[in-house]
Amino acid sequence: MSLIVTGTIGIDTVHTPTGKAEGVPGGSCAYFAAAASFQTPVRIVAAVGGDWPAEHRTILESFDNVCLAGLETRPDSKTFAWGGRYLDDMNQRETLYTHLGVVEEDPPAVPEKYRDSEYVFLANTHPGVQAHLLSHFPDRKLAVADTMDLWINIARSELVSLLGQLDGLALNYEEAEQLTDTRNPVTAARKILEMGPTFVTVKKGEHGAILVHQDGVAVLPAYPAELEHVVDPTGAGDSFAGGFMGYLASTGKTDFRSIQTALAWGTVIASFTIESFGLNRLREITRADIDERMRKFQAAARVG
Ligand code: AMP
Repeated sequence: MSLIVTGTIGIDTVHTPTGKAEGVPGGSCAYFAAAASFQTPVRIVAAVGGDWPAEHRTILESFDNVCLAGLETRPDSKTFAWGGRYLDDMNQRETLYTHLGVVEEDPPAVPEKYRDSEYVFLANTHPGVQAHLLSHFPDRKLAVADTMDLWINIARSELVSLLGQLDGLALNYEEAEQLTDTRNPVTAARKILEMGPTFVTVKKGEHGAILVHQDGVAVLPAYPAELEHVVDPTGAGDSFAGGFMGYLASTGKTDFRSIQTALAWGTVIASFTIESFGLNRLREITRADIDERMRKFQAAARVG
């Protein structure tokens, strides 16, 4: 079934303890779409400025299932740009700068031919832009959003109003705490359910993820990656969401058990993203690589 995403297409500069990547393709939408494309076609609605490198377009176009008909270029505007730095253990990240550029302007237009989209993912961007996209799909089957500290800080009321229209919210542990003022992730997720969604996934980086759903609670470990394979964690959250929504859209399901399985697909696809800077690793792999790692993960995570 059709999957659509809005979010940022960005130019990233990332510092890690062992290296630096400058001006690489990034943005929540780019990682999401690349990750989802292994399971299902994915439509992008986003905007970039005149400074967006042609090479970044070529990279996005290299993913077979990514449709760019909803990607607007605004020649006189600036592309979203983000810089971040990881500390020694790669578990902590500081944002060095966020230049919103086009994200501060009018939301991108939704092409007429995308109006039949059933699975809607609102990747990280301003909650107002997320709500704008969502309003185009009154007959959707599933709407899920991601958010992060910046938006909780500067657009909390728009975010809370968006929550009332969502089926699911994905966020990380610190963001769940920030949004609810609650340290325990399960209790924090329950508070978010009271604001509207049917389920919340709380991601805890190398410690995995928790799913709190109206019909039950599920936990999932992260893929057990060796530190030397973790090159750049940027985009892990967005790739997780892409794998997750890609699975659901490809199966047409939305129930609790399917969402639990979807978490595993998200985890496995994200484990590839972090093995290189930008979209490099996702460009190298095939569906067969993902399937093989999924089998290893299932064996490693088996209980009983
Ligand atoms: P993740 O590591 O999954 O949290 O996502 C990192 C990606 O999100 C980077 O490629 C950034 O360009 C992008 N990003 C960073 N901050 C924001 C923000 N406030 N809104 C939307 N996208 C962002």
